[in-house]
Amino acid sequence: MMQGKIGLEEHFALEETLGDSKPFAPAEYWPELESRLLDIQDKRLRLMDEHGMEMMLLSLNAPAVQAVPGTAAATELARRANDYLAEQVARRPDRFQGLAALAMQDPDGAARELERCVRELGFRGALVNGFSQVENPDVPVYYDLPQYRPFWAAAEALDVPFYLHPRNPLPQDARIYDGHPWLLGPTWAFGQETAVHALRLMASGLFDSHPRLQVILGHMGEGLPYSMWRIDNRNAWIKTPPRYPAKKKLVEYFNANFHLTTSGNFRTQTLIDAILEIGADRILFSTDWPFENVDHAAIWFDAATISEADRLKIGRTNAMKLFNLE
Ligand code: MN
Repeated sequence: MMQGKIGLEEHFALEETLGDSKPFAPAEYWPELESRLLDIQDKRLRLMDEHGMEMMLLSLNAPAVQAVPGTAAATELARRANDYLAEQVARRPDRFQGLAALAMQDPDGAARELERCVRELGFRGALVNGFSQVENPDVPVYYDLPQYRPFWAAAEALDVPFYLHPRNPLPQDARIYDGHPWLLGPTWAFGQETAVHALRLMASGLFDSHPRLQVILGHMGEGLPYSMWRIDNRNAWIKTPPRYPAKKKLVEYFNANFHLTTSGNFRTQTLIDAILEIGADRILFSTDWPFENVDHAAIWFDAATISEADRLKIGRTNAMKLFNLE
């Protein structure tokens, strides 16, 4: 068993955000998921000890802040979640560190809250649950839009990564799933939604303006490692420039500005494909607790047929470098 593993897609809930996670477990499993979400210092630590996990970087459950259309209420919720997380981290800073929840409904306020979390609370970055609903609950707002450029400039200046975590599309944007509710959530819709958001960021030119910005995707890259070549090379005989503002091929941003985690995707064949596409320096171990099991993640990862050098990087040292953990 590999000791000293670090995970960075590891969630908790406040009482008031618990309900957001309820649709993701059948009723008979809800008491267990609820207790897992509310626990930080007890069962979570025992499981980490049992499976060689030294540290979790903790984040609020989904969609939580992103699905609160009122900007003032979203801002207040993010602040409360961050203050609670800071208290929990302070009890065991050797085992837990924090990723900030941010009310992206207010780009400037989100930048200020990220700065407060990093400078005053000692957080290591942010985790945001996909698009935000901003005042109008029927409109998804994505972060490639121009109003977010000052936020990204602030994140780059603070030199902390931004974890783009999934959420489901809004009902009017989910008609392809009508009659097939089993496709929503982690089965398929999460990955589709988050991959497109990531491609929008790449194609927008964001990383031409902010080349040091680092975005993290979970679930082994939400399908993107398998698709980046085709995205840049479809219809290659037609010699016209790409129809997007960014200056380079999208894979160049993927390889320079993205990191992937193993959260909820415990498959060696898929990990090896990700290593071949983005390199072992940009892949990090994570479990997606409490929606996935620590034992499922750790037992798989500890025995995965990759080099021991890569296991050390992916399991631990990449996270230490990316988050400046000593
Ligand atoms: Mn997750």
